[in-house]
Amino acid sequence: MSTKILTVDDSKMVRMIVANTFKPYDCEVLGAGDGGEGVEVAIKEQPHLIFLDITMPVLDGLQTLQKIRATPEIAGIPVVMLTAESDGQRLSAADALKVSGYIPKPFKPEQLIELTAKIVPLNPRA
Ligand SMILES: [Mg+2]
Repeated sequence: MSTKILTVDDSKMVRMIVANTFKPYDCEVLGAGDGGEGVEVAIKEQPHLIFLDITMPVLDGLQTLQKIRATPEIAGIPVVMLTAESDGQRLSAADALKVSGYIPKPFKPEQLIELTAKIVPLNPRA
C-alpha cells in the first residue's frame, strides 16, 4: 500500500515541490489550498501524514491543526508544520497540539524526505 501524504498550503508552488519530492517513492501526494479544504480532504482520503502550512488565508495552519485534532476521524494523523521565519511565536501553540515536526521554508527536498521517513514508511517506487 502506498503512503498517502496531504499537503495543505495556499502556495501552489509549495504543493508542487512536495509532490515532486515524493515522485521517486511509493507515495500518493494530495493537495489542498486552504485549511477548510484540507480538513475535508483528510477526512475523505485518510492520509498517513499531513504537511501543513501555517500562514494561509481563511483558516490558518494553527486553526486547521486544532480542527484536525478535534475531529475524531483524523485526530491521530501525524502533522508536520511548514513554517516561515515569521511564524516563530506560533510554534509553541503548535507544539501543544502534538505536531510530529517542523520544516522551515524554504526547504530542501532532502529535509522533507528525512523527516518523513522517520514518521511513515517511505519505499522507493517499484
Ligand atoms: Mg502560506
